[in-house]
Amino acid sequence: MFEHIQAAPADPILGLNDAYKKDENPNKINLGVGVYKDENGNTPILKAVKLAEERLLTKEQSKSYLSIEGSPAYCSAVQKLLFGQNHNIIAKQLAKTAHTPGGTGALRVAAEFIKKHLSGATIWVSNPTWANHQSVFQSVGLEVGSYSYYNANSKSLDFEALLASLSQVPEGDVVLFHGCCHNPTGIDPTPEQWYQLAKLASKQGFLPLFDFAYQGFGQDLTEDAQGLRTFLEHVPEMLIASSFSKNFGLYNERVGALTIVCDSTDQAEAAFTQVKRCIRTNYSNPPSHGSAVVSEILNDSELYSLWESELKDMRTRIHEMRSLFVNTLKSKGVDQDFSFISQQQGMFSFSGLTPDQVAQLRRDYGIYIVGSGRINVAGMTHNNMEPLCDAIAATLK
Ligand code: PLP
Repeated sequence: MFEHIQAAPADPILGLNDAYKKDENPNKINLGVGVYKDENGNTPILKAVKLAEERLLTKEQSKSYLSIEGSPAYCSAVQKLLFGQNHNIIAKQLAKTAHTPGGTGALRVAAEFIKKHLSGATIWVSNPTWANHQSVFQSVGLEVGSYSYYNANSKSLDFEALLASLSQVPEGDVVLFHGCCHNPTGIDPTPEQWYQLAKLASKQGFLPLFDFAYQGFGQDLTEDAQGLRTFLEHVPEMLIASSFSKNFGLYNERVGALTIVCDSTDQAEAAFTQVKRCIRTNYSNPPSHGSAVVSEILNDSELYSLWESELKDMRTRIHEMRSLFVNTLKSKGVDQDFSFISQQQGMFSFSGLTPDQVAQLRRDYGIYIVGSGRINVAGMTHNNMEPLCDAIAATLK
């Protein structure tokens, strides 16, 4: 039965990580997979998470199943984080949230929901986008289109082209936006541009799906939600896929959420029953631990403040590494202008390095970068900056 099955190609990002682990070069540097690293190159467990886990250890009474959508305390905390404490959507109960296994789980459930209930809808993703988007949507049989986003010459958002592309999207289709810290470019729309995009969504009648995987990694928790909140002033319906892998450092606990916003409470209740059906036939109900940690932190003012300050530390370190990278390259005599890297948000930068240069950096220096030239800035430290920039300077000659 299995003889005819061919091996699938390695995942472009996770495959790179495997290759990095096997590399015996003692000076190797991993700027591939999107995981936060501290100044020592470790991916730490946040103090707020450890404290929450200590509390849960004594508090937890049962390992019985959660409900299909997960714990109510978690789902309500997620909504407050997304919309802000006193938002109309919460007061009027226009949104329903389900805990999903990571942001990927949220996207997969959303994909199935769209396929089943938004008949014939195509989903549009930015060019470029996170490497897994297309596959997740295609795996349920959705048509995936792409819209213009990035200008490779100016290394900036091509807003004219973006508007022109989205003006072609018909009513009833779905458009995916990165809530903040666009992966892979690190380039987000400005508040004014978000406003124009929201007006366009309302005019065209397409459904926005916000992929929100980096809240707090750009400016701060509130600023990073501005795009999403601006949209909600102009459109009555939305899907939101949240991930807490990065901002809580809970990668392997698989904590995310799918939120559906509707025009009325009744519609939200009805649509959510169908979201729950998608979950029931997929993984039945979510794992408990990660969401219990997030819920414990978000619902406790002391832990919340600690988490916010740890999130700020991660964000500040990345911003510092961006500036240091640009300045160190300059000090090595690199003529090419890399200053755009200090303008970008979140963990990633589209470096502009070509596939050949990326291959050379890996072969000659053990420096691992995604083939598209995407760099995980969080993989940089004061210790690896000099050898990294020496290698890039040599490669660019
Ligand atoms: N969406 C984007 C844009 C991402 O970058 C990622 C992770 O890298 C995800 C979704 C998936 O998040 P998770 O690891 O929580 O499944």
